[in-house]
Amino acid sequence: MATYREIASAMIGRPLRGTETVHHVNGDHSDNRPENLVVMTRVEHSRLHASALRGNRKNHKVDGTILADLERMAILGVLQDVGGNRAAAAERLGISLRKLQYRIAHYGVSRRRGQGG
Ligand SMILES: [Zn+2]
Repeated sequence: MATYREIASAMIGRPLRGTETVHHVNGDHSDNRPENLVVMTRVEHSRLHASALRGNRKNHKVDGTILADLERMAILGVLQDVGGNRAAAAERLGISLRKLQYRIAHYGVSRRRGQGG
C-alpha cells in the first residue's frame, strides 16, 4: 500500500525532498487521493497551520470555508516564494497550472506586484 508521501512524489514526478512534507487538504490523513494532498515545504506547512489555527481554531477540521482558507494560504505562500511565477507555484503545489489558475480565480488570490521578499 502506497504511503501518502509515495503518492505525492508520484504526483509531482520526483521524490520528496527532506524539507518537504505533505498536507492533507481536508485534514483526513487516511484520505490519500491526489486532490487531497498538497506538497509544500515544512516552513510553508507550519505557516499554513499556524494561520489556520489562529483565526479558526474551533473549525479547524473539515469545513468548506476553512478548507478554502487553507488552500488560499497555501497558494499565497507558494506564490510569494516563487516570486509570483504561477507555473512554478503549480509545480510546487503538485497541481496543474490550469487547476492553480482556477483556484486563484475562485479564491480571489491577488497577485501582488512591487513587493519585495
Ligand atoms: Zn497539514
